[in-house]
Amino acid sequence: MELWYTEKQTKAYGITAKVRETLYTVQTPYQHLAVIDTEEFGRMLVLDGMVQTTVRDEFVYHEMIAHPALVAHPDPKRVAVIGGGDGGVVREVLKHSAVEQVTLVEIDQEVIEASRRYLPEIAAGLADPRVEILVTDGIQHVRDTRAAYDIVLVDSTEPVGAAVGLFSESFYRNIYQSLKDDGMMVAQTESPLFNAELITQSYRGIERAFPVTKLYLASIPTYPSGLWSFTLGSKRACPLAVERSDIPDLDTEYYNDAVHYGAFQLPNFAARLLRK
Ligand code: SAM
Repeated sequence: MELWYTEKQTKAYGITAKVRETLYTVQTPYQHLAVIDTEEFGRMLVLDGMVQTTVRDEFVYHEMIAHPALVAHPDPKRVAVIGGGDGGVVREVLKHSAVEQVTLVEIDQEVIEASRRYLPEIAAGLADPRVEILVTDGIQHVRDTRAAYDIVLVDSTEPVGAAVGLFSESFYRNIYQSLKDDGMMVAQTESPLFNAELITQSYRGIERAFPVTKLYLASIPTYPSGLWSFTLGSKRACPLAVERSDIPDLDTEYYNDAVHYGAFQLPNFAARLLRK
């Protein structure tokens, strides 16, 4: 008998993947967690029925949330990752030699443990001595932190449950205060096709807090609609002002110097979301 995992990405549209094996499931205090092994995308972390990351296409998202800001910032010594318990963003941040400390702020310990056990190629960076892990609410953490970070990356789940507050203007203002005076932030801001209003609202919230605000896109096959957005807020540096010669040759599968600039070139329907 064939077994298929289906994620309904909207009420009327979804993706389905043929399952080799269900490796682990648990109801944590925050969400239902599953790790499944699929024929097409390998092992997948699924939270509350939504694909978070897969071994086959995780590189796109984890490289693109991290490298544009880390390359644009003049000296990113201290980086915070809010959410991101699978460790993929941390792994990418650690590729930058300037980074002295990465603080992972993940509310659910179970996500970290399950990722270490079943997704070692994604969670590999969590064992690095430069990594500090705080199991706590990212909303509270940035509210209580002042001028500590050069970069904050918000690698949250969809805006449901504990993650709802990670898409609010007050959260972005608290991130602003948690950053040093030339700090930058990037938040994953969902799909420009399926979450247009959320993108407009998040962009406005970040734009009200930061002098430089940019939206950029990447294609992520297993995420809703396959097209994903990130919103960057900066107190000073602009990612498009980076000299091509200053873009390092990183060990990446998606990000490179052309992608660094190209990701910010928006198709009309996405650019229109910023003018609403
Ligand atoms: N890349 C994925 C995406 O774009 O959907 C997200 C991956 S990561 C697994 C998302 C993490 O955010 C989850 O582990 C979840 O527990 C965490 N999270 C949700 N709300 C949080 C909060 N308020 N503070 C800290 N972590 C939170």
